[in-house]
Amino acid sequence: MKMLAARLYGKRDLRTGEIEVPSINENEVLLKVKSAAVCGTDIRMYKNSYAGIDEAHPRTLCHEFSGVIEKAGNCAQGFGEGMRVSVAPNIGCGICNRCVRGDFHLCNKFTAFGINMDGAFAQYVVVPEKAVRQGNLMEMPKGVTFDDAAINEALSCAYNGFLKCDIKPGESVLVVGAGPIGIMHAKLALMAGAGKVFMNDLSSERLDACRQIDERIITYHGDSLKEFVMDNTDEGLDVCITACPSPEVQQAALGLMDYGGRINFFGGLPKNKENVSINTNIIHYKQLIVTGSTRANIAHFRQTLKFISEGILDVSDLVTAKFELKDIHIAFEMAENAVGLKNVIQM
Ligand SMILES: [Zn+2]
Ligand SMILES: [Zn+2]
Repeated sequence: MKMLAARLYGKRDLRTGEIEVPSINENEVLLKVKSAAVCGTDIRMYKNSYAGIDEAHPRTLCHEFSGVIEKAGNCAQGFGEGMRVSVAPNIGCGICNRCVRGDFHLCNKFTAFGINMDGAFAQYVVVPEKAVRQGNLMEMPKGVTFDDAAINEALSCAYNGFLKCDIKPGESVLVVGAGPIGIMHAKLALMAGAGKVFMNDLSSERLDACRQIDERIITYHGDSLKEFVMDNTDEGLDVCITACPSPEVQQAALGLMDYGGRINFFGGLPKNKENVSINTNIIHYKQLIVTGSTRANIAHFRQTLKFISEGILDVSDLVTAKFELKDIHIAFEMAENAVGLKNVIQM
């Protein structure tokens, strides 16, 4: 049986075509993909290619997806054909100390759908036995759509950063970077009862979109971010999250904080810009906590799915364009040019 798949063969070489539906062994699960979201990581892989990918070894991208079980192997007890499921994409070795404490996403030997194994820009995807046994595969809770479950992956990563910031009711929070991840951070802060949630971005259109999504978000577009923060807070921010790849923003964040403030460097920096000079005396005298976070573990993933299912966090408004798999190039072009928020392939 044939299926349609979009595979990366190298830099900017994404080809959509028919290939065999993968066969599974008795312990694997075959998933019929329903929704597959385009992420910044897909775009980076598309622009730069990735280790192990070449003409002879193409890879199906996509790590943000959901679907229906087509065939459940022996290890998938409790899962049945036709069940709506969500998949946390990072699969750990299961043996190292980080895996044992549940941080599969920090495992040195981790594999991930759409990164170093085939992902879900295809009609079918194989879920390996290890992923089933470790809890990566889960039934979608009630009230969660296929699109919600797909973009929940990005939300779970934002949630990992959110937990580092310990946001308390009434606190002031600034998110720099108004892409889908930045808006997810703002939504989490509002859910946690933040008093004021500010967003800043180079693009005024993106900031307009944020206000349309939630009118409680206070946006600032201009050159005097510090003045703006000081005018609108008591003595600076309680929390600042940098959801953008900018060394300047990381540097400036320290100067915006109130005593005891927490900073999360959520967005990584480009390879040649990673050395940033910061005034550590501000951290010292203001007793700041500077944190980082990357990816998410399965517990984060299940927790954010619960937020959606309980109706306390809505992500449906982040899906701004839907495509068929055959039109994936348009979705990639939109994502690369930061048009709209989340681009989703529906199957
Ligand atoms: Zn992603
Ligand atoms: Zn491990």
